[in-house]
Parts: sequence; C-alpha cells; structure tokens
Amino acid sequence: MKTNLSGRTALVTGSTSGIGLGLAIALAEQGANIVLNGFGDHLPAQHQIEALGVKVAYHGANMTQPEEIKDLVHFSQKTMGSLDILVNNAGIQHVANIEDFPADKWDAIIAINLSSSYHTIHHAMPAMKAANWGRIINIASVHGLVGSPQKVAYVSAKHGLVGLTKVVALETAETGVTCNAICPGWVLTPLVQAQVDAKAKDLGISIEKATELLLGEKMPSKQFTTPAELGDLAVFLCSDTGHNIRGVAWNMDGGWAAQ
Ligand code: NAD
Repeated sequence: MKTNLSGRTALVTGSTSGIGLGLAIALAEQGANIVLNGFGDHLPAQHQIEALGVKVAYHGANMTQPEEIKDLVHFSQKTMGSLDILVNNAGIQHVANIEDFPADKWDAIIAINLSSSYHTIHHAMPAMKAANWGRIINIASVHGLVGSPQKVAYVSAKHGLVGLTKVVALETAETGVTCNAICPGWVLTPLVQAQVDAKAKDLGISIEKATELLLGEKMPSKQFTTPAELGDLAVFLCSDTGHNIRGVAWNMDGGWAAQ
C-alpha cells in the first residue's frame, strides 16, 4: 500500500526504541517528517530515519512532565511547520500483585501511559482543527480491552486510553481529524524482553522456553506482532481511506482478545 505523507509531520512519543521506532520508520517511508522523543541514545534512530530522506528532529521531553509535553508539541509545530500526525506511544510496565504494587509505579504508569496522551492531544488539537486535517493514533494494548493479573496500573491506563480515544473521536467526528487506538498483543521489544527474562529466571528455564510459554499463555497465533506490522496499520489509518475510521480500538493481537 502506498500512502503519500510527504509534507506531513509526525510526532511519535517514545520512539527511541521498540514499537515507536517502528512506527516512525513506517511513517517516514511514506514521506512524513518525524519528531522523535524518548530516553536513551536517540542518534541511531535519528540516522535510520534521516537515511529515508525526510527531516528529523528530536525532543527529550519526559512524558511524566506536563510542561515538557507542552514544549514538545510546540517544538514540533515550530521546527517542522506543522504537527499533522500524533502518535502517543511512550509507555512503561511494572508487574506485581496489587498489594505489592508500589504507589510511585502506579503514578508513573498512569502519567506516561495515559495522562501524557491527554496533554499531547490537548496542545496539538487547536492547530489540527484549524487545518481540518489530523491523525491521532494512541498505542494502547490488548490490555486496553482485557485484563491480566499483576498489571493493575497498565491495564487501567490502557483501558483509559481506549476511552480517551473514543471521546476525542466523537469530538472531532465532523472534522478532518481522526483519533483511533491500536491494541497490540505481544511484540518483542525491550519492554517485553524484560518480562521474558523475569519468567526465565523465576522458573529456572531458558529464554527460548520462557518465550514459548509467554506466547502460549495468551496469544493463539503463538507469533509476535512486529513493529513494522504495526507501522503498516498506522500508515493505513493516516491514508485518505482512513478518514472515516474513528474511535476504534484495533487489535493486532494474534487472536488474544477473541478468546
Ligand atoms: P520500549 O520500552 O521498547 O519503548 C518505550 C519507549 O518509551 C522508549 O523510547 C522509551 O525511551 C520511552 N519512554 C519511556 N518512559 C518515557 C518517559 N517518561 N518519557 C518519554 N519517553 C519515555 O517499549 P515498547 O514495547 O516499544 O512499547 C511502546 C508502546 O507499545 C507502549 O505504550 C506499550 O505499552 C505498548 N505496547 C507494547 C506491547 C509489547 O508487547 N511490546 C504490547 C502492547 C502495547
């Protein structure tokens, strides 16, 4: 599928690794200029995207900090001339039963995985509405649709993000701005590798066996979704054909939520 995104600018939060980087690459492959965000060394991601012949900028806003998020949105608009595609992707995980779940982890997960999307959309929306074109894509999770034990903050935040998506979609329904959520099942990124490693350690088994167990427990296809596949779905939502897809929580989860 070819979607011409030349002249559009996409801000992808949490795009220094994993899914965010995959989404940024997919959008850049269709010609979109990219604003990267996230922790760690951003230069490898920046060079990878520059090689695709589009403009790239980086802003290191911490997505727990509302003032930094406001600055990130304004930086994107000023540096690139517009902010047309907003991908809310930054996210973290912590796994524990609720009685052992630390309050600071709860606060951080709600801030990064849910509240940051309120802040980015709040600041980006006026210019999108004025231009009568925009695509907002919230990277939720299959955990925005179903629960799993030991993930109270993550599941709460992702269900909240699906709700936020529906409200923004309704408020923009008669405009050229759309808002949708993508709900991946397991994707092998650093966030999931940490869970595989913990399982291998807890059960005293190999990484390969722990990976098989992780997939087998939840994902009927027993195959990881890839960042590139999620990128293709994001590109489709940005296409002209996507203009009437509004307020959906679109799972790419190997059948997980169908059970
Ligand atoms: P990842 O750990 O590889 O990447 C997370 C990104 O977010 C990194 O760029 C990191 O620097 C950034 N980040 C973390 N905290 C931040 C903060 N405070 N401020 C700014 N940036 C911050 O994780 P991933 O697996 O690629 O996850 C990306 C998104 O996809 C998350 O929202 C996650 O919940 C969601 N998701 C992941 C999976 C999966 O299986 N990996 C499944 C469903 C949904």
